[in-house]
Amino acid sequence: MYDVIVIGSGPAGISASIYLKRAQKNVCIITDGNSALKKAKKIENYYGVEPISGEELYSIGLKQAKKLEIPIEEDEVTNISLDRNFVVRTVNSEYEAKYVVIATGTNRNTPKVKGLKEFEGKGISYCAICDGFFYKDKDVAVVGNGNYAIHEAETLKLVAKSVTILTNGKKMIENRDTSDFEVDETPIREFRGNNVINEVEFENNNTKKVDGVFIAIGTASSVDLARKIGAVIKGNNIVTNENMQTTVRKLYACGDCTGGLLQVNKAVYEGAIAALDIIKDLNTNEE
Ligand SMILES: Cc1cc2nc3c(=O)[nH]c(=O)nc-3n(C[C@H](O)[C@H](O)[C@H](O)COP(=O)(O)OP(=O)(O)OC[C@H]3O[C@@H](n4cnc5c(N)ncnc54)[C@H](O)[C@@H]3O)c2cc1C
Repeated sequence: MYDVIVIGSGPAGISASIYLKRAQKNVCIITDGNSALKKAKKIENYYGVEPISGEELYSIGLKQAKKLEIPIEEDEVTNISLDRNFVVRTVNSEYEAKYVVIATGTNRNTPKVKGLKEFEGKGISYCAICDGFFYKDKDVAVVGNGNYAIHEAETLKLVAKSVTILTNGKKMIENRDTSDFEVDETPIREFRGNNVINEVEFENNNTKKVDGVFIAIGTASSVDLARKIGAVIKGNNIVTNENMQTTVRKLYACGDCTGGLLQVNKAVYEGAIAALDIIKDLNTNEE
């Protein structure tokens, strides 16, 4: 078991891990390697650094963590749960830790489909573990085409009568067993219903009756992960206090996922604050 699992290897996650490791804490980074920083052509506004591509700055950060011998697991996190300790589930494995830092940046993957906003909370959900129970013996669909969609479908399978994965025009990933589900790759035109959603209409004019739709596009976003474990979120951001603690004890969030200034300097700062608070807590409890 780790003292701390940091999810994300962008500026926030690397900063938190460096502080933790230098304080002799047993820390591990789990990352799928898709930092926003990699998309920045040039960073010219970071203190003391000559103009540098985001990609290069990202790899310098990663190198710094590797130099400190921080274990880096290249994997995609699909769920965080709380047993006695935190259990972080990835596509390939499961990890346990006393503390978790969510440093997964900001992205909310939503399909651009008519009716989405109208039916959010009225049959359209973003969390199978939170809302799946409401669909006992009902027909539900999961929108997505990757590991995260399969994770959500597997969660729903335990309660729902049927689970269909709708890839919305994308190819379903091929290296996973989806034999428990119907998979439909037709592009979606519209979510329809009266007060609540009851139908999906496809671009080819076909329709499918549904009682609920779960959105699980791409990888689990910061708010997806926070929501599953019951942390309070506001809009697209995870709510934290001044020490970067979320509303769940020993769960921290830092960087773009907490909102505000979406810049490297703020991510680095918040990563450090989260780490220092965890170090203090660990040291107090270890005494
Ligand atoms: C085009 C562009 C230009 C920019 N220009 C600047 C600039 O000039 N100056 C500046 O200061 N900032 C700039 N930024 C913003 C800066 O890149 C971000 O503020 C910063 O990267 C945020 O760091 P972070 O660690 O919070 O998140 P990110 O850097 O996005 O890192 C998130 C990490 O989480 C991981 N992750 C996410 N989901 C999962 C999952 N489910 N499982 C496992 N791992 C996961 C990712 O792989 C990644 O390692 C720019 C951003 C963009 C997109």
